[in-house]
Order: sequence, then structure tokens, then C-alpha cells
Amino acid sequence: MHKLTARIARELKEMKCGAILEELKGVKRRILSGSRNVNRKLSKWNARTFQFMLEYKLKWLGLPVKYINQANSSKTCPLCSGSMASYDGSIMKREECGFVMDRDVVAVLNLQMWGSVAPESSR
Ligand SMILES: [Zn+2]
Repeated sequence: MHKLTARIARELKEMKCGAILEELKGVKRRILSGSRNVNRKLSKWNARTFQFMLEYKLKWLGLPVKYINQANSSKTCPLCSGSMASYDGSIMKREECGFVMDRDVVAVLNLQMWGSVAPESSR
């Protein structure tokens, strides 16, 4: 994880870019409460550790970091802001406008749009 965040930080530094990250608050608390989806939540907790390391390195390099706390970043249609439904595996579809895309790409598009108007993280 150290190697990966260091590499991302180095590449962002070369591009003179900051990062927009999804707010993952409360994940740890939900793990402790116990659930059938523990594995999924543990991976979210690892994601929070990943964000923490990446944020630390970016700030050390003087690059901006933003956090987005809107829910459903992977389920909101980037075109019409409507609710997308699972279509095939990780593919999401919005019936009303016909937009079809992998959920991770949907999340990235939304975070980029929402992040462009969000304030920088002060943590
Ligand atoms: Zn749409």
C-alpha cells in the first residue's frame, strides 16, 4: 500500500494534479457492529487506510486533496443524475436516458464532477 500510494503521489506530482476521494467515514464503526458483509466492509476500511496514506503524501508534495461525501457515487447517472440499476455484473444502467457504464467508472465520473465544486480538505 505504501508503494502504490507513493507511485500515485509521484505521478500526480508530475501532472501537477491533486486527488478527489470518496468520504468513507463511519466504516470502522460498522465493522465493529458485525455484519454478514464483513469482507466488503473490511475492504472499505482498507480503502480508508489507502486514502490516509495517499492524502499524507499528496499534502507533503503540496498537492490539493478533496473529499466528497455524497452517497451513491456509483449509482447516480452522470448524465441525468437519476438512479442507476445493476445491469450485468459491475455494469450499471439508467433506463430513462440509456447510459450504461461500469460502476467504478460511474463513481469516478461523479467524484470528478462533484469534486470540481467542493472545497479542499483541511485535515
Ligand atoms: Zn441518465
